[in-house]
Amino acid sequence: MNSRRDFLRTSAFHLGFLAASGAVSSRLLAQSAAAKPSLGVALVGLGGYATRQLLPALRQTKHCHLAGIVSGTPEKAAQWQKDEGVKAANVYDYKTYDRIADNPEIDIVYVVLPNSMHAEYTIRALKAGKHVICEKPMGLSVAECDRMIAAAKEAGKTLTLGYRLHYDPFHQEAKRLGQEQVLGKVKLFEGGFGFRAGDPTQWRLRKALAGGGAIMDVGVYVIQAARYCTGEEPVSVTAQEIKTDGVKFAEVDETVLWQMKFPSGALASCSTSYNCSTDFLQVACENGRYRVGPSYGYQGQKGEMNGKPMEFAPVNQQAAHMDGIARHILTGEPLLNVGGDEGRRDMLVIEAIYRAIASGREEAVAR
Ligand code: NAD
Repeated sequence: MNSRRDFLRTSAFHLGFLAASGAVSSRLLAQSAAAKPSLGVALVGLGGYATRQLLPALRQTKHCHLAGIVSGTPEKAAQWQKDEGVKAANVYDYKTYDRIADNPEIDIVYVVLPNSMHAEYTIRALKAGKHVICEKPMGLSVAECDRMIAAAKEAGKTLTLGYRLHYDPFHQEAKRLGQEQVLGKVKLFEGGFGFRAGDPTQWRLRKALAGGGAIMDVGVYVIQAARYCTGEEPVSVTAQEIKTDGVKFAEVDETVLWQMKFPSGALASCSTSYNCSTDFLQVACENGRYRVGPSYGYQGQKGEMNGKPMEFAPVNQQAAHMDGIARHILTGEPLLNVGGDEGRRDMLVIEAIYRAIASGREEAVAR
């Protein structure tokens, strides 16, 4: 259920289309309560992803714009105010965060904090009456995901995740080929995503902040891809964790190999690592196969189906993703698979993977 302001913006959005098509006069459009069909986004946590990907993307979005920032570092906030023209009234720190509730210029709060802070900052934003985009992984547990989903329901606001790849044409094609059984039924999904985690002091290596290692951080992309290429939920997993550096990776997983079984009989063989770079998906179907690799990065995807290249114009994934969410809020356009329920499904798989690593046995994925 959207707020009255969202409704007015929605009306303005439709009016914009109608005006462009000549169906209503531009005077009527100008008279509408919110003639600018663009939602204000507040970024929470001005770290690497917010600075290097989301900020440039917000300069390209059509249906949302940077309206506010939340930072614990006053110098950083001041720099963003200066460089990006963020109004002083729209700058918050972690103590004043809840006052966002009183700010009508902020419609969407985008949580880009370390994983352990996702649930708290998402729930506080929802309680403040804002829509939320929360970065992956959604939380540290299914229980946290449940609390986040309940908070969104109670607030009547949209809870979405930073699953940018649903707006990437190579992944849309990978999903279509598998789910529409273009090459017959999916038999085997293989995928891997990993990188070398450099700085030993980073929060990604601290369990209290990260919740887990490679599987929580980038393995989740491979779980997602296996789910959307098969169009099914895995029923069970087996998994192994291998450490080559027990000091650096004392608190979190370093390399994880895992296997999944799907109800149709399709299988998945997957890997993720903080110790090496891997980046692909490959799907063997009854009548052929397809592959995307490089696969999960911000750009540079390459794909092929039975040896024939996939050709798609590159997109700014983050801009397409944020615009898609904004259009959903403004017009009711269906969301691609970036809702809170998707994050919860991935967390069910992650919990089963950790159980399988601990037990050494095949573990059922809970529902
Ligand atoms: P980062 O370390 O570059 O930034 C983290 C930000 O959180 C910093 O601004 C830091 O000051 C702030 N922060 C607040 N409290 C903190 C604390 N107690 N400890 C450490 N930092 C604290 O991290 P990042 O790479 O920007 O990742 C942030 C989130 O975005 C993570 O959840 C990550 O999984 C996600 N992410 C998603 C993508 C994607 O492609 N969707 C890519 C990168 C990161």
